[in-house]
Amino acid sequence: MSEPSTQAIDVAVVGAGPIGLELAVNLKAAGVEHRIFDAGPIGNTIRWYPHEARFFSTAQRIAIAGVPLVTADQGKATREQYLAYLRAVVLQFDLHVDTYEKVESIHRDGDEFILRTQRAGGPRTHRARRVVLTIGDMHRPRRLDIPGEDLRHVSHYFTDPHIYFQQRLMVVGGRNSAVEAALRCHHAGAKVTLSYRRDSFDARSVKYWLLPELQWLIKSEQIAFLPLTEPIQINATYVTLRGPGGATLQAPADFVLLMTGYEMDASLLLNAGVELVGENRAPRLDEATMQTNVPGLYVAGTAAAGTQNRFVLFIENSHSHVVRIMRAITGRDPQHVNELGFTRLNEKTSQPGPAES
Ligand SMILES: Cc1cc2nc3c(=O)[nH]c(=O)nc-3n(C[C@H](O)[C@H](O)[C@H](O)COP(=O)(O)OP(=O)(O)OC[C@H]3O[C@@H](n4cnc5c(N)ncnc54)[C@H](O)[C@@H]3O)c2cc1C
Repeated sequence: MSEPSTQAIDVAVVGAGPIGLELAVNLKAAGVEHRIFDAGPIGNTIRWYPHEARFFSTAQRIAIAGVPLVTADQGKATREQYLAYLRAVVLQFDLHVDTYEKVESIHRDGDEFILRTQRAGGPRTHRARRVVLTIGDMHRPRRLDIPGEDLRHVSHYFTDPHIYFQQRLMVVGGRNSAVEAALRCHHAGAKVTLSYRRDSFDARSVKYWLLPELQWLIKSEQIAFLPLTEPIQINATYVTLRGPGGATLQAPADFVLLMTGYEMDASLLLNAGVELVGENRAPRLDEATMQTNVPGLYVAGTAAAGTQNRFVLFIENSHSHVVRIMRAITGRDPQHVNELGFTRLNEKTSQPGPAES
């Protein structure tokens, strides 16, 4: 049973990732009545990163709400450190997050929005005068749609290298997540084969400190590399690949990691009436305010980029979205924000623009 609609709050924030939390801290500091929902726990996207994965962004760039992110070794934060940091931010600012409450639909009703949500206790309805979607852009894996993709030994998520100790592991992909999985599993004792549809790796898509090692391990035949191949079928003990010229080959595999990227689920945006534009199907919005074509509905964080085939939005260059939305809503600059003057430089190339995931 849906609870009866309550009085409208001023702002509903959907998504308690770093950018949603940074916004909530500032709404609270500015005295704006708000509510923040997440379909999972806080930092739900970061939760499914591989165990002990390190951010490529420096700690300063991913720190939120003016709270320093200090790592014990002065290095880049791990998944575990960052999740603990996000929990600390929630505690420090005493944010109330409605976790495990998924917003399933958003509709305009006169001057207000009606948000229908689902949580363990059943559906709920909330009313808000404004809505900010900070829902991220990695909601589901980019599927290959091949037979065997849903077998138990096949996954689109790399979590723990330990699983693959002394197993024949096929990793599919050639960007950062595939390279990192191949290296970490090799070091954890897996016999790794890497299948990639291109003939070589694009240095811009791989953390700069990983590529030389991978290339050496391939050259010394410690990791098998199958360039210009694509899986077309997965069976219990092997993968069938299409190779150059259409020839097929079979490679043994006890486990398969399909590191082929993730997509945005834009259904909430569409359902709210937001237009999607361009190749990435990004929400149509006014860059100055982050307001979409639906008055009162804003988008911030990586969700503003749609599905990113080439990454352009990260945590580090999304802090400014919080500034723009706070200005639009309150007419004032926010108190707690990390707008770093130096974030325009890519750490790998020292050129303008952030590095890729
Ligand atoms: C392995 C890996 C490493 C990465 N390293 C970096 C890095 O070094 N630097 C960097 O900047 N980025 C990195 N990224 C990308 C990073 O995860 C995103 O930049 C960041 O999470 C975006 O923050 P966000 O707040 O915009 O969205 P997210 O962190 O994606 O948060 C969105 C939240 O919205 C919630 N949500 C979605 N839909 C709904 C709904 N309908 N109802 C309620 N809640 C909903 C989700 O559960 C989630 O918690 C990496 C990604 C991966 C996979």
